[in-house]
Amino acid sequence: MAARKLTVVISQSQSKNPQQKQLEQELAARLLMEATIEVGVVPHLYDMHADHTGMLFLKSIPGDFVVLSWLYPRAIRWTLHRQGIAGKEGQSLLIDDNDEKEQAEQESASEANSQKGAGIGTLPNRFLYCIDLKVSSEVDDYIEEIKRIAQEQAVETVELTDWNNGNSKPEQTQQYLLAEDPQNGQDSQSSKEKNQTPPEPVKRRWYPVIDYARCTNCLECIDFCLFGVYGVSGQDLILVETQDNCKKGCPACSRVCPENAILFPGHKSSAIAGAEGEIAGFKIDLSKLFGAESSIDLAVKERDRELVAEGRTAVGKNIGLPKRRDKQTSSSRNHLDDLIDSLDEMPL
Ligand code: SF4
Ligand code: SF4
Repeated sequence: MAARKLTVVISQSQSKNPQQKQLEQELAARLLMEATIEVGVVPHLYDMHADHTGMLFLKSIPGDFVVLSWLYPRAIRWTLHRQGIAGKEGQSLLIDDNDEKEQAEQESASEANSQKGAGIGTLPNRFLYCIDLKVSSEVDDYIEEIKRIAQEQAVETVELTDWNNGNSKPEQTQQYLLAEDPQNGQDSQSSKEKNQTPPEPVKRRWYPVIDYARCTNCLECIDFCLFGVYGVSGQDLILVETQDNCKKGCPACSRVCPENAILFPGHKSSAIAGAEGEIAGFKIDLSKLFGAESSIDLAVKERDRELVAEGRTAVGKNIGLPKRRDKQTSSSRNHLDDLIDSLDEMPL
């Protein structure tokens, strides 16, 4: 029996940046030449709604797969998870140079977090490899890493029905023409085999993504957000219920989450966008030293701004902040985190 091919999905950039487009196209063209790789190209992960053909394609992949996106790997992983696309974390060796030193710490932190996470659930027996396309501008770096993963991936993979609770829709088992042809509009063998439906347009979206490996289900976010974005599941687990109620550009609840478990993948602050590597334990109060605002003050200001924009009354710190918050010295978020957030906000 022939070994199953490794599926590699390239998620396109939101921007029309020519370098980014070129990297995506060259990567897709090179991967199409690999006999052991199946390639799909989809729009930006964060922007696709649950029934977008690209998302249905991702849901249809039965075994291990690699996703390359212009997002931090943690943001890729939890954006997929909220769409019901889950798996064990495949370790990519292609990471940012700055992150390399922190890798060991991250691994032990994610081990600890995976025990703390309230809603991670049982993960299907397969691996998802999430790779950030910002890490390198060299196509060869990605090809080399994907070949390495293809070699290490288990040939034994779970069946679609195993992780889809046996409810796969017929369309989930088909292949799709998912996005622009990666070869400048020329038909590729792969795309000819796919459904010739024109690509579905996507609009830019803005909503929180929960990292359930960190979330402790404290429900502070649902108390803090006054726009009805959050809800709870039948099992009383926090979830992002009405994502399009979220105010574009507002990252306020990510600043109040005591576990740094709320991501806004498109935010300019790397900490809020899902970069790994906490600086926990470094307790020097630099925020006071430089007069920077605390993250709670920033969050309150951002929330008030959105309330006023809606014609409502600003509430300051009077609603949705536990009393203990003022005194809290969180192990996950400290004054240095606050300072970094504040610096990220400064126009340079
Ligand atoms: S505030 Fe953070 S840790 Fe608490 S429920 Fe919300 S996401 Fe989870
Ligand atoms: S960012 Fe603002 S509007 Fe969006 S969920 Fe958080 S608090 Fe609510």
